[in-house]
Amino acid sequence: MRIANYDNRAVIVEGPAGAERFYYLDELSGGRFGPQCEDVFDTWEELTSWYGRHTLDESEGAKQVEVSLLGPPSPAPRQVFGVGLNYRDYVETAGIDPPLTLPPIFTKYVSSFSGPVSIVEIPPRTNVDWEIELVVIVGRSGRDISVDGAWSHVAGLTAGQDLSDRVLQNRGPSPQSGLGKSFPGFAPQGPWLVSPDEFDEPDDLGLRCVVNGTTMQSSRTSQMIYSVPMIVSELSKIVKLLPGDVIFTGTPAGVGFARTPPKFLSAGDTVESWIEGIGNLRQTFV
Ligand code: ZN
Repeated sequence: MRIANYDNRAVIVEGPAGAERFYYLDELSGGRFGPQCEDVFDTWEELTSWYGRHTLDESEGAKQVEVSLLGPPSPAPRQVFGVGLNYRDYVETAGIDPPLTLPPIFTKYVSSFSGPVSIVEIPPRTNVDWEIELVVIVGRSGRDISVDGAWSHVAGLTAGQDLSDRVLQNRGPSPQSGLGKSFPGFAPQGPWLVSPDEFDEPDDLGLRCVVNGTTMQSSRTSQMIYSVPMIVSELSKIVKLLPGDVIFTGTPAGVGFARTPPKFLSAGDTVESWIEGIGNLRQTFV
């Protein structure tokens, strides 16, 4: 199942890549689910079992995709988590020891969220950097979730950019990751949520970030030090995960600050991000 946030309404996405069709979820379900994306996660299990029994046909009001109207799949999560230092290639090229226990966890504030296609304003006196990331959206609440049972708590996966101002992030005696990664537009996500059953190997997805046509990051999610099930399990030892919660799972090697010489985004740049089986993001910077 694929669900998108289309013009502030939850839609089911059908059809092959490049020729997707949308169906308004509330219309399709006779008002049972939706109408907004933030409404769907509290009834996620009922929704997936209803969808498994539903047969779609063209007469149910298919709409063409207009990507500029897409918003983040989970637009109002109660909790947002970011995972740092989570790719083997990232920690190796940065010369950092991999985290042996819990990796660094921070938040991105929800006012930084946007849809998959956006214009991002570069704030003054910042060094804005790219970080392609697989994003997990929680579908079922829980604490002390086992690694083996973790995927059953995941509603789906989407693509995200953990845009980061390295100046603010590294200012002062301890990292300011939460604020440094939360300027308006710094958390684009989408184009839609894809449920785990849609992937042959949800723990091994290709992902890529291209800046002005040059590939800067290219890796696979199997390179994560903490896999999606391990992250869900570790977080749930401490906090209760809630339906709709959003988890940015870390970024592979190739970010701007770790390059020689360092490279940051400026006005006119474009960042295109892609994750296998999910789709694309496109950010233009002004
Ligand atoms: Zn990140």
